[in-house]
Amino acid sequence: MKTRDLVRFLACCCLILGLTFVGIYGAHQAVEVLREGIPVPRYHTIVIDAGHGGEDGGATSCTGRLESEYNLEIALRLEALMQLLGYRTQMIRRTDTAVYTKGDTISQKKVDDLRQRVRIVNQSEGNILLSIHQNYFSQGRFSGAQVFYADNDTSKELASVIQKSLVDTLNPGSKRKTKPGKGIYLLEKCRGQGVLVECGFLSNPQEEFLLRQEDYQKKLVCVIGAATASNLS
Ligand SMILES: [Zn+2]
Repeated sequence: MKTRDLVRFLACCCLILGLTFVGIYGAHQAVEVLREGIPVPRYHTIVIDAGHGGEDGGATSCTGRLESEYNLEIALRLEALMQLLGYRTQMIRRTDTAVYTKGDTISQKKVDDLRQRVRIVNQSEGNILLSIHQNYFSQGRFSGAQVFYADNDTSKELASVIQKSLVDTLNPGSKRKTKPGKGIYLLEKCRGQGVLVECGFLSNPQEEFLLRQEDYQKKLVCVIGAATASNLS
């Protein structure tokens, strides 16, 4: 590992620990150190996709809350962190809306919504997609975050860095592994580096409780954001 990479890696570890244990406000200093002292290249634009929105609420949690709401809250926190780290960011949505521009029926709107998301992700080279979703299964016992990736090596690598960080910090003991984004339209059409993070299971009462908490959402974005920053070169 080169000295520069080592410094970056250590700084990201400090950031994760700082933000995890001290809380995001107490860790502002760590973020400043990272911004000023670490040569993270910032020519990338991070495109942050809060999955679903508007009439497409995604999954419904075991407490009756829509997936689109969790996704938006976490995505907005991720935007704030990536900006603090010095990245340009682009949000696919900032409110509870879908992003389609045409279509009469729900399915036509859904197709156009996904096409618009793909268009935004692919509009510039060097865009990096971080798509935020929540998982759901008919049985409540399943838990843990899982990262899916677009069909290229850099996406696979980014996914494995994020997956490992999530398991190490928030899901100790989880056996979940990264998966190719086969069948996920946004990842199949993503031409650059792109991952989709299923942050946890809305069907698991304990995990759903955590996913609603501000502190846990902050931890999630710290892990995802720092892992992403450490992977970019
Ligand atoms: Zn979803």
